[in-house]
This record gives sequence, C-alpha cells and structure tokens, in this order.
Amino acid sequence: MSESNPTPLPTVDALVIGAGPAGIGAALALQSVDSITYGVIDRGGIGQTYMDWNPWTRFLTPSFTGNAFGAIDLNAIHPETSPALLLQTDYPSGEAYAHYLRKVTELFKLPVVEDTAVEAVSLNDNNEFVITTARGELTANNVVWAGGEFSSPNTPEIPGAEHGIHSSQAQAWEPAEQSEVTVIGGYESGIDMACSLTSRGHTVTVLDPKSPWEVVGSDPSLTLSPRTRQRLRIAQKTDRLTLVGDASATSITVDGGQYVVTASNGNTYQTQHPPVFATGYHPHLGPVAHMFESRDDGWPLLNSDDESTIQPGLFLSGPAVRHKNLHLCFIYKFRQRFAHIAHVIGTRGGYDTTALKAWKSAGMWVEDVSCCDKSCVC
Ligand SMILES: Cc1cc2nc3c(=O)[nH]c(=O)nc-3n(C[C@H](O)[C@H](O)[C@H](O)COP(=O)(O)OP(=O)(O)OC[C@H]3O[C@@H](n4cnc5c(N)ncnc54)[C@H](O)[C@@H]3O)c2cc1C
Repeated sequence: MSESNPTPLPTVDALVIGAGPAGIGAALALQSVDSITYGVIDRGGIGQTYMDWNPWTRFLTPSFTGNAFGAIDLNAIHPETSPALLLQTDYPSGEAYAHYLRKVTELFKLPVVEDTAVEAVSLNDNNEFVITTARGELTANNVVWAGGEFSSPNTPEIPGAEHGIHSSQAQAWEPAEQSEVTVIGGYESGIDMACSLTSRGHTVTVLDPKSPWEVVGSDPSLTLSPRTRQRLRIAQKTDRLTLVGDASATSITVDGGQYVVTASNGNTYQTQHPPVFATGYHPHLGPVAHMFESRDDGWPLLNSDDESTIQPGLFLSGPAVRHKNLHLCFIYKFRQRFAHIAHVIGTRGGYDTTALKAWKSAGMWVEDVSCCDKSCVC
C-alpha cells in the first residue's frame, strides 16, 4: 500500500482496523483459521490508546498467571499469554500494557501496519470493502472495526461545558499543587481520578446523582470494581474527599478566574482547576459509522455474531459490543468474541476453523452471549 506503487494489493479475507486489545485479539483468532488472509491497520502505534493514558491510571482488572489451571489472566488476549508474567505486575499501567500488546504482536508475527489512519470505508461493485487510507486503498471481504472509544469522550450537554475537561485528557490529572477539583461523574474514571488526586494532596468533590459508589453487584460494568472500592476506602480516610450523591452538575461558569459548577441541589462548587468530566465515552465508529444502525441508547446495533445489522461482513470487536443489557466493556468480556468472529468469517469463506477449538477449550470463546448474565451468589 503506497502512493508511489499503483499496483493494487490483493483483496484480503479480513482487515482489522485498530491495534488495541480488541483488534490484536481478533487478529490472533483469525490467525488460527487455516490459510485465511488478514491484516491489522492502526492510525497510531500498537496499543496507542494505552500509550495515551495518563501516567496515574492503572488497570482495575487484575492480572495473574492462572493460565495453566484454566484461569486465563483476565487481561490476556490470547490463551497462551499473560500480562502478569510478562510485566511482573498485577495492575499494569497503560505503557506496560502497550508493551504487552507489542510483544504479543511480535511473538505471533501478526501483520500490523502502523501510523496509517483509515479515512473512509465503502463498497465496490464486487461487494468488497474498499478501505481508504492516507497511504492508499485496500480491499477486504470482511472488516473488523476495533477502533475503541477513547477518542470519543462523552461530555454532558450543560451550559458552559466548554470550560470543563474530560478525564481522558492528561491535563485533567495535573492540577497545580494542593488544588481543589470538582469531578462530574462518580463511576470508575471519576473515582479513579478522585483517589489519585486525594493521594497527591488535592481536595476533591465528586458529583453524581446516581451515587455509583453505593451500588453493589457482581458486574463491574455496572458497579465499582473491588480495586476501586479499596482505593476509595483509603481516600475517604483523608479529609480531602466529598462524595455528593444527590446532585448533578447543571452549568459551569467562570468568575474572576475561578470555575463555578452549579449543581441541581442548589449548591455551587468553586475551583481554580477546570471541572473534570468523568462521564464516559461514546462508541467511536469513525469511518464505518454509516454502516451501523443504532440501538435506542446510541450504541451500535449488532446481530448475534457481533456483525452490523445493515452491512454483512462488518464486525465489531471491543467495548462497544452490547447485546441487550450485556456490556462487553472489559477485556475479559470482549475477548470471548474474538474466536467467534474469526469462526464466522472463516466458515463463510470456506476455510478450516478447527484450530479455533483451542480458544474454546481455554475458556476464551463464548458462542452465545445470552448466557452471560449470571450473578454471583455472594
Ligand atoms: C481509562 C480507562 C481504563 C480502563 N481500564 C480497563 C481495565 O482495567 N480493564 C479492562 O478490561 N478494560 C479497561 N478499560 C476498557 C477497555 O478495555 C479499554 O477501553 C480498551 O482499550 C478497549 O480496547 P480496544 O482495542 O477496543 O480500543 P483501543 O485500545 O482504544 O484501540 C483502538 C485503536 O484503534 C485505533 N484507531 C481508531 N480509529 C482509527 C482509524 N480511523 N484508523 C485506524 N486506526 C484507528 C486507535 O489508534 C487505537 O490504537 C478501560 C478504559 C479506559 C478508557
């Protein structure tokens, strides 16, 4: 693929867009399909999102080398790998996890093209996908979109929202010494930020009308993870954290160099540091957005194979995968679908997918996601 070389490259069976855990994982599963042709393309480097994480955030899902006993490291994207073993840590930093992704890519010799953004995806007369990049065009019979969500931060539509900053920006994590900070949103990223800032001497107020810190349940997609709760208990022992559970932010103004958040309980919260939105992400579908229908909640509508309902051959891998109330937003959840997508693409193309059985016996392939809503009894 090069502007100076006009010879078109052969059409591949599957092109994966995005080299985060969802894309590299999907490519690893595709590699298990005999003779299939595939590749991965990323606008940045392998694990780019993790390299862009702020330096204070760590994984909240623990890594541990339980693979030999059928308990695959929760953050692994291939049954024979373990971030805990490679990185010798249980809660990796973004930089460390990006290193794991690069090592896995190297070990399994995955064909990955870096620094090449996909700008558009369309169909040609042969019903193949045409993938347009700044460096030329590629064609593929199937596309797996694994573009993540980090580049689509969700900012609430309140007056003065332009004065706040989203928690995805490193600057949000770096107030001047001993600052007061208002954090809007109290689920994982809000509490992560509150714990990090209080441990560094700052004073934090978290606003969230749903009081997520009080909700207990066995699905960490809906409640705080044990690690975050543990850190929260430590932060609450300082006198620098206030959790406000009866109010949402209704506006932000700037007055005399101070940011003023007005809340629905009538209180105002005044700080020198811009208020921080820890309000999550939208799905980032980039150049394939027009090829997906949306659910009522705005997330992409998928069939039971994680495929677009309006564009056959276009699959979704990663945290945006949702089926009814099931959110596959963690690696240990969305990795269960890598083998499934590879199996669907492989069998439709007439390839032998027998080797994918290894993913199933390792417990890394759930075919029917409707069975995943079990709660723990204690
Ligand atoms: C702060 C934070 C902490 C998290 N902590 C955890 C955790 O502890 N455990 C856990 O399991 N999950 C965690 N998650 C959730 C989830 O696992 C991560 O969001 C994960 O990065 C998702 O993987 P992905 O491969 O889908 O996306 P990403 O890792 O974001 O990868 C997407 C890739 O697509 C590329 N890309 C995007 N658009 C294009 C384009 N047009 N052309 C080419 N390439 C493109 C990007 O450069 C990027 O490399 C966390 C999420 C966040 C935001």
